[in-house]
Amino acid sequence: MAVDLHLHSSASDGTDPPEIVVEKAAAIQLTAIALTDHDTLSGIPAARAAARNLPIELIPGVELSVDHDGVKIHMLAYFIEPGPGPLQDRLGELRSGRGVRNHQIVERLNRLGYPITIDDVLRQSSGDAVGRPHIADALVAAGSMSDRAQAFRELLGDGGPAYFERDRLTATDAIELATASGGVTSIAHPLTINPGDSSLRRLFEDLRDVGLAGIEAYYSEHLPHIRAQLADVAADLGLVATGGSDYHGTGKPDLSIGTGRGDLVVRDSSLEELRARRP
Ligand code: AMP
Ligand code: FE
Ligand code: FE
Ligand code: ZN
Repeated sequence: MAVDLHLHSSASDGTDPPEIVVEKAAAIQLTAIALTDHDTLSGIPAARAAARNLPIELIPGVELSVDHDGVKIHMLAYFIEPGPGPLQDRLGELRSGRGVRNHQIVERLNRLGYPITIDDVLRQSSGDAVGRPHIADALVAAGSMSDRAQAFRELLGDGGPAYFERDRLTATDAIELATASGGVTSIAHPLTINPGDSSLRRLFEDLRDVGLAGIEAYYSEHLPHIRAQLADVAADLGLVATGGSDYHGTGKPDLSIGTGRGDLVVRDSSLEELRARRP
């Protein structure tokens, strides 16, 4: 029996409404999923309502972009309930930071000759965590780019001509806030991290020592032998090997719920080990 612990909905930059994500996951008989939208829990109530009528468990989650000594990391936090709380309260501030940065990016795009407005961007989102994917969608709608991938490649990607940094939590703060909110954390798609002068293993150890619970070993874009290697590293360090597809609907074409590019399997035991780490 399988689960998927990394899914996006239209509450952030996925294209399916949260209840549709749940219905699709139940249709392929997953036993549980975590909805992990960027910086928001606003999709959780609709997802949970859908899960109530189906044989599937919904884990409330969120994906955070954090910084650890200048190294950028995406962190998944699980068992974070909507409503007030230590991490929950910071999510609102992070979404405000997105607003500032979206304006900076739109202004830069205007100067580069792409006459889109912030309203064009907001029209691309039905959620409350608006970011570069929606700016990409606005450029596509204006006929300036053919898809999100081209917009990231030519304009919006890290270091690109229309790239701006935004507010981030430190990795340590994210772990401590998630723990204070009754949650557990796992490092998302660890192979996208550039550890610079350090090493991935060192980074996992540092964060384990401040309370990190897992690393996402089973990820759509990892080759099977890489998934096995990362699971070994996790076991070696006393971390949980977690996994998920990073499904975004049509926002990341060719990625399916549960199975990623077709060969992904995340066992129920990943979720049960994670659950056992709850504070
Ligand atoms: P933001 O959170 O606003 O910085 O936007 C980052 C998000 O954009 C990531 O979490 C991905 O979901 C998405 N993204 C990054 N690169 C690409 C790409 N090449 N194509 C589509 N989506 C992307
Ligand atoms: Fe995303
Ligand atoms: Fe991510
Ligand atoms: Zn993600």
